[in-house]
Amino acid sequence: MHRAPAPPPYGTIVFDCDSTLCSIEGIEDLAGERAAEIHALTERAMRGEVPLESVYGMRLDMIRPSATDVEALGRRYVATLLPNVAELTAALRSLAKRVCIVSSGLLAPVRAVARAIGVEPRDVFAVDVRHDSSGAFLGFDASSPLARAGGKLAVVRTLAAGVGAQPPVALVGDGATDLEALACCARFVAFGGVEHRAPVFAAADVGCDVADFAALLPLLCSADELARLARDPVHAALVTAARALPH
Ligand SMILES: [Mg+2]
Repeated sequence: MHRAPAPPPYGTIVFDCDSTLCSIEGIEDLAGERAAEIHALTERAMRGEVPLESVYGMRLDMIRPSATDVEALGRRYVATLLPNVAELTAALRSLAKRVCIVSSGLLAPVRAVARAIGVEPRDVFAVDVRHDSSGAFLGFDASSPLARAGGKLAVVRTLAAGVGAQPPVALVGDGATDLEALACCARFVAFGGVEHRAPVFAAADVGCDVADFAALLPLLCSADELARLARDPVHAALVTAARALPH
């Protein structure tokens, strides 16, 4: 696919969840005592050494998270949101942008994040899991594109196509699976505020190593949009915070 990188403004902003909106990796949080083992598998996929689908089902089968575990993860995601995530989301939405979360994490916990930061349920894309009536793990939606390599590209391509004549898509993420969507992004922002992954930064249009979402504001908005936010009493503080951060 021919890439068309472009400066702001953007009509749709897509965020990854794990190690981007939140400082944890959900699957490792669920893993408990097996976290190190699961971390090693996740890292291989995020570095692009193995395709995601080769570790996705394996990790869930090792952990078999109960309904209670999955619910608790939603609370931990919300507790580990990076500074100014909700403020940035509100500012972007005030500029009439569509804000989406596209994650290979589990749907219910990612929806908890969306609720906490004011993202619409229809703009959350993640992998559903099934439990029986006692809450025991039954399996995951293996048909979800987000459980395999190239899935983010498929989802973001659909979002980009749906935008029509509106300005294009910008994506913020930390991992190799995010980078797969590069081809249909007008701007790919490598986020290193939690984990700095050199190959992702090398391929990205721009990078951000600051663990504060205010730093993303000037990377996602045009000068005109920043001026509009600076004049808005609700969002002016975020613009001030962004200007005070290193870039
Ligand atoms: Mg991530």
